[in-house]
Amino acid sequence: MLRYIFINGTILISFIFVISQVFKKTFLNLSLSYKNKLFFGLAQGILGIILMLFTIHITPKVIMDFRHIAILIAALYGGGFSAIITGITIAIFRLSYFGVSTASIIATLSMLIVAIAAALLSKLKLNMFNKWIYMNFVSSLIITGTFLLIIKDPIALRNTLIFFWLGSFIIGSLAYYIAGYMNTSIKLLNRLEQESTIDFLTGLNNVRQFDNSLNESFINVKNKNERLSILIIDIDFFKKVNDTYGHLAGDSVLQQLGIILSTYCRSFDIVSRIGGEEFSVILPDCPNQQALEVAERLRIAVEIHEFILPDKNKINITISIGAATYPDNVSDLDNLISEGDNALYSAKRSGRNKVCQP
Ligand code: GH3
Ligand code: MG
Ligand code: MG
Repeated sequence: MLRYIFINGTILISFIFVISQVFKKTFLNLSLSYKNKLFFGLAQGILGIILMLFTIHITPKVIMDFRHIAILIAALYGGGFSAIITGITIAIFRLSYFGVSTASIIATLSMLIVAIAAALLSKLKLNMFNKWIYMNFVSSLIITGTFLLIIKDPIALRNTLIFFWLGSFIIGSLAYYIAGYMNTSIKLLNRLEQESTIDFLTGLNNVRQFDNSLNESFINVKNKNERLSILIIDIDFFKKVNDTYGHLAGDSVLQQLGIILSTYCRSFDIVSRIGGEEFSVILPDCPNQQALEVAERLRIAVEIHEFILPDKNKINITISIGAATYPDNVSDLDNLISEGDNALYSAKRSGRNKVCQP
């Protein structure tokens, strides 16, 4: 008996791991799209089928396993729709693989009832753990009813029920723990991946992602013989904004500027925040003339924009831009950024609110 619990537990752990990897990008939660809920339900149906393949024959026609756990996981993470899909998948397989008999029809119906019950329970406003306890308890009761109907021998019935409730508790707890663990790990991993590349204030690329993108652009330049332009952008007298209106107002200006830069660039340009109030735009495959046009467009867009502060005050700011292009006005690719910086410095020195090139 313990051997069966061990086998079922092992199948569950491996399967939950595989499923969590498949659904890594759309990490499991109740706001999955219906298409994903369908796939998740089907995947859990396959888990139910595998558990059935490692079933225990109590009599030639009566089998026992922990396939209901697959339905419960579907309900907990995919909601009612996924649970019903899992239930139907398991039901179809139960009838077609093990043949039609009174026992199999009753067992099939009981799986559908478990799916409906789990679907309803998944709607309750409870925390995950309590939901799981209710679901496991109610589905175990439903399955107990099935055993009462189809197992006539009292000794076999007693042994089956003891084993089933014990197994359901152990396997159920294990499944709950592993699914929760995988779900949390994936969410954290996704967040970490995002936070390591995105600037939290503006949602633009952060400086690390800027470096990655720049390296990729360098490779393209070398392989495809393309031109590459870069704009280094700095807000003029930004300290004054902070000093006059406060740091939060400054943050709001940075956010709005991020939106303007993204809006007025070409769709494939890469906009990043590379310092406190310093931004950059990588313009792949872009000659100097066009880079200057984009830079001028950005400069004007910022100049005429009214920045609305949290206290509803409206202010205007300007930006200075250094625009450098390889090979048009920078002959060594490695100097592209420093030449862009120098050009920005020239723009600052010669009065600000302008675009300069090396
Ligand atoms: P310049 O025209 O020469 O660039 O003048 P500036 O005042 O913009 O330049 P300076 O380097 O003296 O000041 C930059 C200011 O940017 C100082 C700092 O408080 C502010 N700053 C940097 N990061 C942030 C941020 O994340 N939020 C806010 N609100 N301010 C920031
Ligand atoms: Mg500045
Ligand atoms: Mg600065």
